[in-house]
Amino acid sequence: MEKKNIDWANLGFGYHDTDKRFVANYKNGAWDEGALVSDATVQINECAGVLQYAQTCFEGMKAYTTQDGHIVTFRPDLNAQRMEDSCRRLEMPVFPKERFVKAVIDTVAANEAYVPPYGSGATLYIRPYMFGSSSVIGVKPADEYQFRVFTTPVGPYFKGGVKPLTIKVSDFDRAAPHGTGHIKAGLNYAMSLHAIVTAHEEGYDENMYLDAATRTNVEETGGANFLFVTKDNKIVTPKSDSILPSITRRSLMVVAKDYLGLEVEERVVPFEEVKEFAECGLCGTAAVISPVGRIVDHGREITFSSGMNEMGPITKKLYDTLTGIQMGRIEAPEGWIQVIK
Ligand SMILES: *Cc1c(COP(=O)(O)O)cnc(C)c1O
Repeated sequence: MEKKNIDWANLGFGYHDTDKRFVANYKNGAWDEGALVSDATVQINECAGVLQYAQTCFEGMKAYTTQDGHIVTFRPDLNAQRMEDSCRRLEMPVFPKERFVKAVIDTVAANEAYVPPYGSGATLYIRPYMFGSSSVIGVKPADEYQFRVFTTPVGPYFKGGVKPLTIKVSDFDRAAPHGTGHIKAGLNYAMSLHAIVTAHEEGYDENMYLDAATRTNVEETGGANFLFVTKDNKIVTPKSDSILPSITRRSLMVVAKDYLGLEVEERVVPFEEVKEFAECGLCGTAAVISPVGRIVDHGREITFSSGMNEMGPITKKLYDTLTGIQMGRIEAPEGWIQVIK
């Protein structure tokens, strides 16, 4: 298969049209067979549920070329399960998990020419999503839905080297107790846009959100979970019902324990404890782990000992091990790697 003539190393994180996308429609209480199509345009009624009441959820994952030349994806069954959870919370029909995984595999295979080569640092980002497509004006769930999967090649996350982030403690809340913070709903992102634009204007890379009820405990950022390293090399990640369960973060906890022999704790993390940690990172599919160098809480600065120039040593080990597993350099736990080709 001849690859597209793309400057992989200089790709950003943006949308790039590829050849095929998967589309399935839900109507009269059932999903149709679905198909790979060429047209990137979606046509829906002006009153579609997604447009009026934001009835939509999504997933994010990647396809990689491994060292031995296979195309693989990482733990797609967990994305399928998470999308099922999102759909149930938003009163949307579930797209069956096995069909979700097959749609992802088929879409990536159909866009093989866009899967960046091993060693380029680039990857093929995969975006499954669902939305209410039929008209809704009185507030209720739509009757019809579309499930789609598209792909887009994205460049290396740490282009020009790793640069630890500076983040601020936000005055906005991301997710309410008993709300929708634990599902991957578009609405969680819509309401975070003002907060992130404001943070960027002030010179910060990201927001740290605290729990909305007490504003004392660490939750997450707009799109990544926190992972902390204690001075005695324990891994700590915040526990809360309003945090989105990151697949990267859950995988890193397994890597820490089973591959690096570190103790791991998922528990409530008071913000007051953050200054005691040695390292801090943000976990998500896009970057795997982005190191955080500094956190600013209304003028009060916490600088981690790992500093502003490099990943901390434990963060680096976690990053190297998980990316090694994804790229086929390190043996994966059973079931983590889905071979596509
Ligand atoms: C998608 C997402 C993450 C990261 O999850 P991964 O499965 O690791 O990509 C973290 N937080 C939020 C709010 C998210 O939407």
